[in-house]
Amino acid sequence: MHAEMMRTIVAAMPFPVIGIGRDERVAAANPAALALFGAGIEGRHHLLSLRQPALQEAIAAALGQGVAGTVRHVIPGPSQDITYRVTAAPAGEGYALLTFEDVTEAEQMGQMRRDFVANVSHELRTPLTALLGFIETLRGAAKEDPAARERFLSIMEREASRMNRLIGDLLQLSRVESQERIRPTERVDLHALVAGAVATLRPLAEGAEVAVEMTGELGPLPLPGDADQITQVLVNLIENAVKYGGAGGKVSIHIAREQLPRGPGLRVDVMDQGEGIDPVHIPRLTERFYRVDGHRSREQGGTGLGLAIVKHIVQRHRGRIRIESERGKGSVFSVILPET
Ligand code: ADP
Repeated sequence: MHAEMMRTIVAAMPFPVIGIGRDERVAAANPAALALFGAGIEGRHHLLSLRQPALQEAIAAALGQGVAGTVRHVIPGPSQDITYRVTAAPAGEGYALLTFEDVTEAEQMGQMRRDFVANVSHELRTPLTALLGFIETLRGAAKEDPAARERFLSIMEREASRMNRLIGDLLQLSRVESQERIRPTERVDLHALVAGAVATLRPLAEGAEVAVEMTGELGPLPLPGDADQITQVLVNLIENAVKYGGAGGKVSIHIAREQLPRGPGLRVDVMDQGEGIDPVHIPRLTERFYRVDGHRSREQGGTGLGLAIVKHIVQRHRGRIRIESERGKGSVFSVILPET
């Protein structure tokens, strides 16, 4: 290929591309490649910029034997490393063409998927191991002991319910994720939904000796939304406030108006007076299976998915979540939803 032609083709590529000549010098580099390796690489020996041994071998194979190859090439970035899949291919007349495909995101997604499967397996295995253990005990040592049998059966019921809740939350999460790009079309009354969620959780709150109060804007407060999903958001937040912040004896739910960048919105603050959350945890609370205190969460029957579900539902509604907390004073979980 003509050197000029090579340069024209390389320049048109949307991702970094470098052409290397027979003389092992960089014959052409497109703007994306210049941004990556610096403006000085053109005309220089490729070894000066592309030092990783695997990449060197691939270049040598493409130039010398006319054989194409693919290698993984990591370039350290300011905030994170960028991983490229680099293809070195012969391009005729002794040239080799290197193309750099950014696979960072794809690799991260793969890692997330593997972590998720590992987490789910672990979460299911714990109660399952307990169940299998108790079944064995009931068949053996506790066979003729009615009191022990009752006790074990109630633990088994608790463990089985935990698995059931986990499966329910996982299904809910995948449902919400698959709808994330479909905007809700119904119009719902936020005030009525908050009142409904509070009524649903009244027995839980009373059992925990927590008073739940509602303040702020009164209804009707219409907005576009999926009634079941918004109820789920409110139930998850109020339930957490009672479970983790209930020590303060009071949970307040306040509805207010708040301007969002794209128009008017309605905000629901769920405030507790519990011990609060250390700021290091706050950005990660909405990650799947992230818990501040895993033992305590499990004790309370938590799956670690409640806030992840909240995040996805709020995203589907084009809303926002804000979490503020002060150690010793309590936490405020706010959800802001657009009114139009
Ligand atoms: P779960 O409650 O099932 O563990 P969530 O996703 O609902 O899962 O919450 C994740 C974690 O966030 C909880 O385990 C808890 O550590 C923390 N958290 C949530 N809400 C509160 C709150 N109101 N006060 C203190 N910590 C909270």
